[in-house]
Amino acid sequence: MTLPRTFHEAKAALASGEFTVKAMTAAALAQARAKADLNIFLETFDDSALAKAAEVDAKIAAGTAGPLAGAIISIKDNLCYAGHGVSASSRMLKGYVSPYSATVVERILAADAVIIGRTNCDEFAMGSSNETSAYGQVGNPLDPARVPGGSSGGAAASVAAGTCHIALASDTGGSIRQPASFCGVAGFKPTYGRVSRYGLIAFASSFDQVGPLAYDVEDLQAVQAVIAGPDDRDNTTSHRPFATADVPAKLRIGYYAQCLDVPGMDPEVRDRTLAEIDRLRAEGHSVVPVELAHADLFVPTYYILSTAEASSNLARFDGIRYGHRAKEAQGVEDTYRRSRSEGFGPEVQRRILLGTFVLSAGYYDAYYGQGMKVRRIIRDNTLETLAGLDLLLTPTCPSTAFLKGQISDPVTMYLQDIFTVQANLAGIPALSIPAGQHSNGMPFGIQLMAKPFEDERLLAAARRLFPC
Ligand code: GLN
Repeated sequence: MTLPRTFHEAKAALASGEFTVKAMTAAALAQARAKADLNIFLETFDDSALAKAAEVDAKIAAGTAGPLAGAIISIKDNLCYAGHGVSASSRMLKGYVSPYSATVVERILAADAVIIGRTNCDEFAMGSSNETSAYGQVGNPLDPARVPGGSSGGAAASVAAGTCHIALASDTGGSIRQPASFCGVAGFKPTYGRVSRYGLIAFASSFDQVGPLAYDVEDLQAVQAVIAGPDDRDNTTSHRPFATADVPAKLRIGYYAQCLDVPGMDPEVRDRTLAEIDRLRAEGHSVVPVELAHADLFVPTYYILSTAEASSNLARFDGIRYGHRAKEAQGVEDTYRRSRSEGFGPEVQRRILLGTFVLSAGYYDAYYGQGMKVRRIIRDNTLETLAGLDLLLTPTCPSTAFLKGQISDPVTMYLQDIFTVQANLAGIPALSIPAGQHSNGMPFGIQLMAKPFEDERLLAAARRLFPC
């Protein structure tokens, strides 16, 4: 059998008695094996997945199954699952087995999802192409010569290649939305604080959020309903009640006219985005150009603050408390130096060095302190802009998926994040939704952002505006 593309189709097939969860899980694992050359999975969890599937089939028969019964889910290789390997796609954590589960993993299992494996990603989620993984690149399922995006490249590819219905991943500066755009699937970054980060291997703690990727928004909604909400083990999760998902018939949508002309913008992605804007207007929504203050500061501010946080978070991987230990090291300092030099790849080392620099005495005020102030201004401006609107609309990325090896300069790679980092800097929810196919054959996405904690309304609006 072939795995139904979406969880809601799978649920209907289960209800009609057409399939069992066990048969679907076996089909998902077979598909993962058939697509092995794309290097999507670092490991499939065959035994625990098939055992869980049998348990869910029994629960379905007994009428006690949870809301995700029938969902086949992959998890990014930075989410901990007790008794299973997790490596953040780094040599540093090669062979590490997690003793505990992330809250999101516990919640999807309690809701009776099957977890089929862990997906490849950029090392410690740092990258936009999945090329910084210590375990090799991932091929885009729509054209294996191209990247799937990053850092959640394996996650997006796992959905696009039909190996699962939903992928759980993390988004620090665009890592769910950009790969979703490159692989033609939908991806959602929740409001900061809506989903627990407990058990997510930290990159930049004030930016990181866990979220889902799927073929359509209906599946994103199903998984969000299970993973969102407060968690005593993550004090940054919010107790704010969920806003209503009611969407007004006619929406007020803002778009950044000037940012459609940023350097590197693919003219066809720009024109198609403008065509979508015209369509939304023709449907009776108010779509207005809005000023984007300080857009030139988004990417620099993100890279100063996120590398500072990363240098602190990754200090624990020293060969003593955690991670790879160099064999020939002598003494503590030599152990640190050699273990970290051997364990971390070049991009992670670059970011640790940059982050350590911006936090160091003498430079702290000029870079980190200044970055914090600018972040506050960006957040205030973003919220002011959103005050009179329901949604903000941008392309998700300036281009479609590029070729493997095409971008070698780190700064050019960082500019991939031009449209996505604003949501992380401001802590607002954002989603990428497939918007069609470029004449080069590759998909591209449109990004919608909304006010903090309007996650459910954003998803409902996206489903209405961009049925896919
Ligand atoms: N591409 C961005 C970076 O490299 C975003 C990564 C992410 O969201 N984890 O930092």
